[in-house]
Order: sequence, then C-alpha cells, then structure tokens
Amino acid sequence: MAKSANNIMDRLVSLCKRRGFIFQSSEIYGGINSCWDYGPLGVELKNNIKKSWWKSMVYERDDIEGLDASILMHPMIWKASGHVEGFTDPLIDCKKCKNRFKATDIEGDKCPICGGELTEARQFNLMFKTFMGPVEDEASIVYLRPETAQGIYVNFQNVLNSSRRKIPFGIAQIGKAFRNEITPGNFIFRTREFEQMEMQYFVKPGTDEEWFEKWKQERIDWYLRLGLKKEKLKFHKHGKDELPHYAKDAYDIQYEFPFGWQELEGIHNRTDYDLSRHQKFSGKNIQYFDESTKEKYTPYIIETSAGCDRTLLTCLVDAYNEEEERVVLKLSPIIAPLKVGVFPLVKRDGMPEVASKIYNYIRKNIKTFYDDSGSIGRRYRRLDEAGTPFAITVDTETIKNNTVTLRERDSMKQIRISIDKIEEVLKEKINV
Ligand code: ATP
Repeated sequence: MAKSANNIMDRLVSLCKRRGFIFQSSEIYGGINSCWDYGPLGVELKNNIKKSWWKSMVYERDDIEGLDASILMHPMIWKASGHVEGFTDPLIDCKKCKNRFKATDIEGDKCPICGGELTEARQFNLMFKTFMGPVEDEASIVYLRPETAQGIYVNFQNVLNSSRRKIPFGIAQIGKAFRNEITPGNFIFRTREFEQMEMQYFVKPGTDEEWFEKWKQERIDWYLRLGLKKEKLKFHKHGKDELPHYAKDAYDIQYEFPFGWQELEGIHNRTDYDLSRHQKFSGKNIQYFDESTKEKYTPYIIETSAGCDRTLLTCLVDAYNEEEERVVLKLSPIIAPLKVGVFPLVKRDGMPEVASKIYNYIRKNIKTFYDDSGSIGRRYRRLDEAGTPFAITVDTETIKNNTVTLRERDSMKQIRISIDKIEEVLKEKINV
C-alpha cells in the first residue's frame, strides 16, 4: 500500500465518512466546496475538544472568564480592527482554466495547473458580507466575523465591571468564524466556516513579555495533554516580515501533518493596539484604573488563538494507525467520542440480557456503545476505527462468575474484572 501523504489523507477522509466523523456538506446536491458536516462521532469528538479547552482555560484557573459574543457585530468594529482595509490576500486568476490562486503561492508567470496566462494580482477582502434588514444597500452591510477576538475586546469593560476582575485576567470564547479563503483545502484544515477557541489575556504593560512566555508553555502543554506526539509539535517564531502590524511578538504552534508543518494556533503579543483602536473609533474610554496604585492605563493583550476544527484534524491525523490486521485511531480517552463498547459474545444463553444491563447502567455517565451484530473480531475492529479505548465483553464465564473481559484498544490486551468493578475501573482509566 503506497504511503504517500495524499493517500494517508484520502484514507483518513474515507474513514471519517465510513464511521460518521465528518461528511461533505450538501453531499446529495454534489457537495459545496470546503464545507463539512460533523456526524455522530465527529460532534462528540469536537465537543470533547472544546470541553477540554474550556476546562483548562476557565475551570482550572481562577483568572479567566467566559464569553459568547454574537457573530454579527457593528460594522465599525471591523474598521477599528483594520479588517475592512487590511484583511486581504492578493489574488491571481488563470485566464484559461479559471483557477484562482493566492499570489504568494505562485512562482513564475504561468498557471501552475494548465500553463495559461495569469491576471495581475488584485486585493481580495476575506470577510463575508451580508445585509442587515430588508434593504440591500451600503448602509446595511454587516460582516460575518472573521475572528472571535473582536467580540472579546468590545466587551472588555462589561466583563471587567460585572465580574469585578483585576488585571491580569483573561476572557475565553469559543465560536464560529468565517473567512472567504482563496485556497481552502486539505480536508477540514482550511475552510471558509470554522470554529475558533480564543483567549485574550489583559496585562499591565511591562509584564507582557513574561505573560507571553507563560502562555506559550501553557498552550503547548494542552496539546500534549490531548495526547499529541511531542516530536510532531514545535514553535515557529514569526520573523519581522511575517509579524502582523499590531503584534510585538508572535509564535505559531505547528504540527507536522502529512502535507507538512502547519500552524495549529497563534500566540500573539498584541500590545495595546486593539483596545486603543476601539477607544479611538467608539469615542468611549476603555482604560483600566488600578485602585491600589491609582494608575490608569490601556492594558496589553496576550492572545492565544486556536482552531477547533484544525485541532480535531490534528488529533485524527496523530491517532491514525494502519497496523497489519487493523486500522486504529489511538485517540486519547479524554477526547475519544465513544469511551467503551459493550458486547455479548453471542446472542443467546442470557448474554444479551446481562450485556444490556451493563450498557444501560454505565451509559448514564460514560459515552457507551452497544453492539451485538457480527463476529466479536469485527466488532472490535469497528471500535478500533472509531477510536474507542475500551470494550467489555460478556461471555460464558460471565454467567458463571459475574466477571467480564475488559479489552484495551491499543495493546489489544484483555483482563477479567468483576461486573461490580466496571464503572470504577473505567472512570479511573478514562479520567472522568
Ligand atoms: P493561516 O496562516 O493558516 O491562514 P492565520 O494566521 O490567518 O492562519 P489566525 O488568524 O491566527 O490564523 O487564526 C487562529 C487559528 O484559527 C489558526 O491557527 C487556525 O487554527 C484557525 N484558522 C484560521 N483560519 C482558518 C481556516 N480558514 N480554517 C480552519 N481554521 C482556521
């Protein structure tokens, strides 16, 4: 079997469809480019990733509050943020085959696909526009947010005052963002609609560099806790030419995908740029007053900006293994969509009754799957492909002595445990 990057991605895409992780959007109408739907296992995996991020940001710390801002916001926000003017990519069209490219992806002056003549580069704004209300004119233009961060900046004072926080503190948010990308692709890696998990941490100027270092470490540790391979992760420091205009320092956390090292998350020292801009454009005072020192200042912001869909793809790629007799997703039990499968060895001798009882009991607290069709080997293979870390099988011995087998996905080892210990053992292994 050829192991080229494309083949591995193709086989992963086909597993995702087969097992119900991810489907092409609008498939029965021929699909729509770069849009994807999460199926029964995909939505569980995505929710588990979001839960883990929220837990590490909001619940395990006592200096971060949550927020859920609306997608449509006042159009002035995007002027203040610089997106109306500057959120553009230079775009080049092929006059012959009509394909579209980012100017930065083109070498030479001919179309890389058909060799045809290319147009001049023109600036293309990546924001999706729509109209608010019944009249479609300039005055009613609103944008689908291209990042969730601005919703946090414009709520800085609201959160500060209502939660009675003191600096340093952060605001975390998970939500959809939209970018009219010129070259979406690599499955869900780059899409036009995606979810971000962003946290903006407000600090006193002068303490920003220290906080920047702390957040870099925190964020890479989170990916390691999701079970990603250490050697596949690295930091990439932005050089002067890559640095966004608002940033004093920026690092990407990168992962080595089958199609190369790519960004997973950006960590930026955004200085006081954002709050100063919103102060200027709104005419409202967004400064912070420090009661203890009587100082007034505009906080600096350390941003950690991760893509939820991209993290999900990374977890799938990292977990995907082709072994001699099986394909297995070695997902960490923390994020695995199904934690355990319960099987009666055969559909007789009282085994289905006992297995159903176990299933109905543990599924209340642990995401569990019941399967009694096909040979036991095939049932294990299905669970392996779904990334389910444990399986419990009820067999003839169960009927005699109230014990079951517990199979571990990665080692395929089986141990016998007593029925009344199942929940305790699973909870410990899954870390519920
Ligand atoms: P890129 O250089 O890949 O376009 P970016 O530097 O523009 O990304 P940011 O604006 O820093 O990305 O966005 C933060 C995170 O949001 C990215 O690290 C990525 O995980 C996610 N993200 C950004 N654009 C997309 C997209 N089109 N599809 C999926 N995820 C995205």
